[in-house]
Amino acid sequence: MKTGRGKEEWLNAFQGLKKYLNQCVVCQETGYDPERIEKKEGLFFKAKAMDFFHPLTVNELGMCASCATRVEQINGKS
Ligand SMILES: [Zn+2]
Repeated sequence: MKTGRGKEEWLNAFQGLKKYLNQCVVCQETGYDPERIEKKEGLFFKAKAMDFFHPLTVNELGMCASCATRVEQINGKS
């Protein structure tokens, strides 16, 4: 039995959510921007967004914390 919606379908239904999402340029992981979405009051999709996605912050290069750490380790070795 199939329950729930896929992320793609869900995003199509809530276009406004996209601006609160971050995507890592390296691993393509997608999550909500915790600072921006938590500041925003009265977003009807806020609770759903927090259910569906996990918080993801990206650095100035667009990398998530785990990718940034990996790149730092690689750079540190050379
Ligand atoms: Zn990443």
